[in-house]
Amino acid sequence: MLKKIWLSSPHMGKTEELYVKEAFDSNWIAPLGPNVQHFENSIEDYIGNNVHAACLSSGTGAIHLALELLGVGHGDEVLCQSFTFSASANPITYLGASPIFIDSEEDTWNLCPVLLEKAIENRIKKGKKPKAIVAVHLYGMPYKVDEINAISRKYDIPVVEDSAEALGSTYKGFQCGSLGEIGILSFNGNKIITTSGGGALLAKSEEIKRRAVFLATQARDNAPHYQHSHIGYNYRMSNVLAGIGRGQMEVLDDRVAARRNNFDFYRKNLSEVPGIRFLEEPRGTRSNRWLTCILTPSYKIRESIRLALGNENIESRPLWKPMHLQPVFKDAISFTNGISEALFEKGLCLPSGSNLEQMDLERICNVIKKELV
Ligand SMILES: *Cc1c(COP(=O)(O)O)cnc(C)c1O
Repeated sequence: MLKKIWLSSPHMGKTEELYVKEAFDSNWIAPLGPNVQHFENSIEDYIGNNVHAACLSSGTGAIHLALELLGVGHGDEVLCQSFTFSASANPITYLGASPIFIDSEEDTWNLCPVLLEKAIENRIKKGKKPKAIVAVHLYGMPYKVDEINAISRKYDIPVVEDSAEALGSTYKGFQCGSLGEIGILSFNGNKIITTSGGGALLAKSEEIKRRAVFLATQARDNAPHYQHSHIGYNYRMSNVLAGIGRGQMEVLDDRVAARRNNFDFYRKNLSEVPGIRFLEEPRGTRSNRWLTCILTPSYKIRESIRLALGNENIESRPLWKPMHLQPVFKDAISFTNGISEALFEKGLCLPSGSNLEQMDLERICNVIKKELV
């Protein structure tokens, strides 16, 4: 059997083990400590734009805290990009609120500003102004930030910027994660850099960060004994895992470059294959190309490529199934235009790890060409 090629596997640099060892040597085996501090500082330096980073146990937890900090509560409605991973939407329900799903536009595959505004107008008319907007830079491609932020300002509805897949992507020179009211990152094992599991909340002020950390550490009041006047969570990142993150930040730019190279390789080598299309970067945006996605002419062709790759021990995956089509959200209100459904039907994510070799990429392209030419 040929070597397995994964969709997106962890890729360690040289210093992660050293920082983890530091945690052991100093006995900082706790949900705080010097590695957490260093990791947060390096995220803040990288993202810039005056963000304050709070490292957490997951990106999902970060979205949960972001929504709570923006005042989302029981009975509220939250607008959410439909074309995404379920973790963008699930935390809305943790708070007893309901997601309203909004379809995508064709230029970035992300939140459609036209439908977003239509949905807001509709909900306001029904006497129910939404409390927040969850917008996602899916596969690392920045959403239409200017358009979404203009709507956010016009209706005074804050944006939670789901940058779980977009660390290292930029919009008009600004890093993704710093473009909404609150940003979030994920360091899950398949993301562009990883701590095995983890996430971060990116706040616009020290005060918001302080409140995020407060909620993430069981909402302990300032007293010598344990006193609580809020319900809290156990969402802080371990100092051991933050050691991995500290090392990963040192190679982040290399990881982005490697993933962008994968994309360029695929586009160049599959350009002669009839019917295969790629998502181009709109002017002013730079995607980290977390996953390279192709659009095929039909569901049938998409499946034939996926199965052919599988037979060669190569992992690939259909694009995200839109939330408005998920059984668990069958009762949710949605505003659709058919775009995310078509993407789901015809799209495929190709192996995109930063640790892929030229040989692997050639192997993958050969299977696809053999299937289609
Ligand atoms: C991975 C991911 C998350 C959740 O991050 P976790 O760290 O796995 O909890 C949220 N949104 C999107 C779009 C993701 O891809």
